[in-house]
Amino acid sequence: MIPKIIITIDGYSSCGKSTLAKQLAKKLSYAYIDSGAMYRAITLYFLRNNINLEDEKEVKEALKNISIDFIVNKNSDQSEIYLNDENVEYIIRDLVIAEKVSEVAALKNVRKFAVSAQQKMGINKGIVMDGRDIGTTVFPDAEIKIFMLADEAVRVERRFAEMYEKNPNISLDEIKSNIAMRDYIDSNRKISPLRKADDAVELDNTHLTQKEQLDFALDLVKNIQQPA
Ligand code: C5P
Repeated sequence: MIPKIIITIDGYSSCGKSTLAKQLAKKLSYAYIDSGAMYRAITLYFLRNNINLEDEKEVKEALKNISIDFIVNKNSDQSEIYLNDENVEYIIRDLVIAEKVSEVAALKNVRKFAVSAQQKMGINKGIVMDGRDIGTTVFPDAEIKIFMLADEAVRVERRFAEMYEKNPNISLDEIKSNIAMRDYIDSNRKISPLRKADDAVELDNTHLTQKEQLDFALDLVKNIQQPA
């Protein structure tokens, strides 16, 4: 039997990380974990409960009341996130969450909480996880690390198309400034800032189709499993 591995996919906002991660996980029959969804679910909980982000004790106490699970939806065959047994897969994609998530994700206790949960999920390997610090902090020994890039205009267009479907009142400018703000905070925070791991392979998908980027990743897997 081919030994299972860990595949990490990191990169800036809206580079298509989750599209690739989902397709790759499906192809390999691996679990897919959207680590960004965890930070978004925590943000939803904090907003609903008016948690003061500047009060470390309050944040720590709030985290004790949060449980996060990923459950596969049998109809769509997609993994969906649950916050304290409530399916929040769709609510967390709202711009209200996107406006606050990077601030929440920069907090020391939030990162400790999320990283420890993510590491447990990878204990048996056979996992594709996407995010910002998966190859650097969560799984520094992962067998395959991909760092995704795409031109800013392409990223804004892609995210706009996705968000517009749910909310036709949304503007391109709102999306553009949200992406820029998140990338800035994510890259400049003190703990686990977004950066390419030294041993990660870059994948710029500005001009690639989904099939081309999937083939690129599958080639990396083949090279690990059947080295030339
Ligand atoms: O991947 P997604 O865009 O849904 O992530 C939302 C936010 O969660 C990011 O902008 C970032 O602030 C945070 N995040 C993080 N570390 C990860 C994944 C996401 O800080 N591993």
